[in-house]
Amino acid sequence: MGDRIVDGRRRSDNELLDTALRDFYGAADEMHLNEGLVSMLSYPERRVDVSVPVELEDGTVKVFKGYRVQHSTALGPSKGGIRYATDVTGAECEGLAMLMTWKCSLGGIPYGGGKGGICCDPTNMTLREKERMSRTYGARIAPIIGRWSDVPAPDMYTGGQEMVWIMDTICKMLGHFEPAMLTGKPIDYWGARGRTEATGRGVATCGFELMKKKNLDPKNLKVSVHGFGNVGSYTALFLKQAGATVVAISDTTGTYYNPKGINIEKAFEYMERDPGKRGRKLEGFEKEGCEKLDVNEALFVDCDMLFPCALQGVINEATASKVKAKYILEGANGPTTPEGEEILVDAGKIVVPDFLANAGGVIGSYFEWAQNLQGFPWTEDDYNKRLVALMTENFGKVWEYAQDKKTTMRRSAYIAAIKRVSDIVALRGVYL
Ligand code: NAD
Repeated sequence: MGDRIVDGRRRSDNELLDTALRDFYGAADEMHLNEGLVSMLSYPERRVDVSVPVELEDGTVKVFKGYRVQHSTALGPSKGGIRYATDVTGAECEGLAMLMTWKCSLGGIPYGGGKGGICCDPTNMTLREKERMSRTYGARIAPIIGRWSDVPAPDMYTGGQEMVWIMDTICKMLGHFEPAMLTGKPIDYWGARGRTEATGRGVATCGFELMKKKNLDPKNLKVSVHGFGNVGSYTALFLKQAGATVVAISDTTGTYYNPKGINIEKAFEYMERDPGKRGRKLEGFEKEGCEKLDVNEALFVDCDMLFPCALQGVINEATASKVKAKYILEGANGPTTPEGEEILVDAGKIVVPDFLANAGGVIGSYFEWAQNLQGFPWTEDDYNKRLVALMTENFGKVWEYAQDKKTTMRRSAYIAAIKRVSDIVALRGVYL
């Protein structure tokens, strides 16, 4: 696994990083970006590889590999999650950090992009093993973490608990308290009210803005939501509250379909019945007046707007032609492959890309950081209003450019994001 240079440009054997690079080059070429800037932005500013020795419950010591990558700090401190998964690599973190640069830039927030992680199987570790691992990892990346340098957040298999362990360790090393060094903290411990719903609220806001642009009334629209986790469930709730008919929701147990509309509040209550069964929560929901279909059928049911909010790569060369919705708003990261998008676009459909639609999460993190720096918590209402205002503005920017240049919203979003970063790099100079 490694890098290679093709036609003078960096490419990678890592699929995620290589896709991120190719998407960047495509947009950079369209905007005639200076080749020196292209070259500079195709590499991270800094990557720290660490070993993370952990004493396991049986007394043996296992060493895990950990990473923290800062792709760009042109706009401000780098921002991005920390994930624990068996497929975490340095190259993958580089690709994800680059995507965070564009997401933060497009989101209109003063952050660059970062990402980190540990290559491990957290599902096979005890709580104490995870605590020791998180604290050691925190200690080893501590020199590059801070409220004005790099602000991590939760990602796959990490949450408020891991953030508290990492922050607590680094604060002890610093000898002072610094809650703004990372986000995604528990609400009662320097977290932010509104964050739980933030990504879904942002996705739904993009849906409402698209409806306005197309003169559509939510009351006349049928929507389907693939994935009923954090992002999908709140997206479905806000759309239903605005009067849309949510005809399908899904999770790993199946798709639950009712062409007359699903009672989303009831689905929320249903999910609470057995909090221990994470990921299988909608099992049996067909009893509530729904027809049960295959897991991925939520992507293909008859509807106007589709919200893929579960997994990456589900709308691809093999499945895209089955999508009936005219509008696809990506709540998940990367649900549509480039081949899948080509099929959708050729069929006259509009795709609102992930790094625009699901940016409510990182914008919400920025609000948490801002509150921590102020030492003053905002009201939930304040948080929500600011989130909706920023998402609306961002959607408008991308929409106008796409209309003007007759291009896709994804390409338009890339160009807007890259332009903000490259303008600042040009202003500050190559030595950052
Ligand atoms: P989650 O774990 O809360 O929910 C995922 C949902 O998808 C669950 O309902 C799960 O059952 C369902 N699912 C998994 N596999 C499925 C399958 N094969 N078919 C149908 N459903 C399936 O995760 P989340 O936080 O809602 O994140 C979902 C996506 O959104 C991910 O791509 C994530 O990276 C992205 N995202 C999340 C946030 C956030 O703030 N949570 C922010 C930005 C992007």
